[in-house]
Amino acid sequence: MLPLQDKDRSVVRVLLKSGCCSRCVLRFCCVGLQVPYRQPSKVLAQQLFDFAFPNDVNKCVPYIQEEKDPPFKKIKLEEPNNLNTGQDQNDTISLTVPEFICSNKDGENICVVCLGVLQDYSEKDFAAHISNEVKSAQFQFDNFVISVSLPAQLSVREYAMWLLVKQEVGNKGLYMGRDDVIQIKEVYKWIIHPIISEELGVPVDSKSCFEISVVFTHPETNGDCHFLALVCSDCFKPAKNKQSVFTRMAVIKALEKIKEEDFRKQYSCPPGFPVSKCLVEDIQCLHAPVYVAGRYNKYSRTLPQTPWVIDGERKMESSVEELISEHLLATFKADGFNFSSSGREDVDVRTLGNGRPFAVELQNPHRSSFTKEDIKRLQQTINNSSDKIRVRDLQIVTREAVSRMKEGEEEKTKSYSALIWTAKSIDKSDIEFINDIKELKINQKTPLRVLHRRPLAVRPRVIHTMRVEFADEHHFRLYLKTQAGTYIKEFIHGDFGRTKPNLSILMNTVTDILELDVESVDVDWPPAIED
Ligand code: ZN
Repeated sequence: MLPLQDKDRSVVRVLLKSGCCSRCVLRFCCVGLQVPYRQPSKVLAQQLFDFAFPNDVNKCVPYIQEEKDPPFKKIKLEEPNNLNTGQDQNDTISLTVPEFICSNKDGENICVVCLGVLQDYSEKDFAAHISNEVKSAQFQFDNFVISVSLPAQLSVREYAMWLLVKQEVGNKGLYMGRDDVIQIKEVYKWIIHPIISEELGVPVDSKSCFEISVVFTHPETNGDCHFLALVCSDCFKPAKNKQSVFTRMAVIKALEKIKEEDFRKQYSCPPGFPVSKCLVEDIQCLHAPVYVAGRYNKYSRTLPQTPWVIDGERKMESSVEELISEHLLATFKADGFNFSSSGREDVDVRTLGNGRPFAVELQNPHRSSFTKEDIKRLQQTINNSSDKIRVRDLQIVTREAVSRMKEGEEEKTKSYSALIWTAKSIDKSDIEFINDIKELKINQKTPLRVLHRRPLAVRPRVIHTMRVEFADEHHFRLYLKTQAGTYIKEFIHGDFGRTKPNLSILMNTVTDILELDVESVDVDWPPAIED
């Protein structure tokens, strides 16, 4: 029994006559129960026919004589109770019915609204095809969700059919809003989710990280939307990365704006019969990114943090980013990555101590489920592969945690040690005064060496503390604790007076920096992991 009432009968007739498939008929009758849609379309078609033309097959004859235009043909229709057995051909009866009801994939007309999406593409065969595609993509997942991308013109066809149904309903003094129609996408999921869930052996979860996206197109009717651009030109602005201005969102927006009478003038209600059904442009599997964080040490003075490329030419053969990420990519079988860190060091600067926090976003990972032991082994693999870097506290984190790494970066402190050269010869007593300097405020005009990528500005920074260690009469080691974002090299040589005050001014001699190490980055993230 279909959940339809007497008042729906004339609507069902109008829909069938207009070339709607059985499932679209239910949608426009606002049937919000999932079960009826899941029946094979043949069974559903029979039930709808019985509902629209009850009791006696002859009853449909006057209707058909009254309504001359749709295509009708004589066909043999099976008795409903024999549909499942498929045996007993003797029990079939001869009926005159609209062609589109009974001739299905085995010959059914393409639905004028869903263009086949709720017909063959909602049957078991196609669900099995999707499942096979997913299996061959070899992802690891515990649950899934389907997303459906429909051609934009389906909204136009849906609108046209709604106008027609609204009119029919209005004749009875009732009203039907556009939102009352059950969405194609929703119905599609109702039907296909349980079948695929069974095929793949995992449940559906609307919040799943693993999305199977099915993209339908229908080139034959692409032109359906074009009239909207004449009526609502401001809805269709060319945008970057969009092949066509007729995006689904733009079409929906235009349909919200257009006056019903204007629509009727420009587009036929019901929409015309298509020759072909939708094409499946793509079945894609997409796993949400996984984030891996840790801290790295960099022991080389010839290793940049990220690939160093100038005018398309590589300057250094590797980078911190690559040494870490290549192992993550391989282990997570990801399509790509984004590396980020709490600040960065120059190519000739080492990062010692507990290291610098970093995070890697792994895009579309085919593997995402790892134990703590697995991650520990992965960290070991990275550390065994190069002596230029070392990674610790490697762990899987959330996206939100990564954004916290970036927050308040400027307020954090960083500790450095620098090997200083002085032009004037010095002894211990010449540098001891530096130990007493606390909370030194300096102003740094954007350094010359980064002016090509940073805006020109004067940035106030604070050197919290300094400590000196005498080496010889032209060298000493300087330990600094500074506000994050302080340019250390510039504080020491002065950058042609662009950083003021600077060590040169404080010592009243030319000073330069020979080596710089980051001793610690005081960001308490990611949490330490015990070995
Ligand atoms: Zn349909």
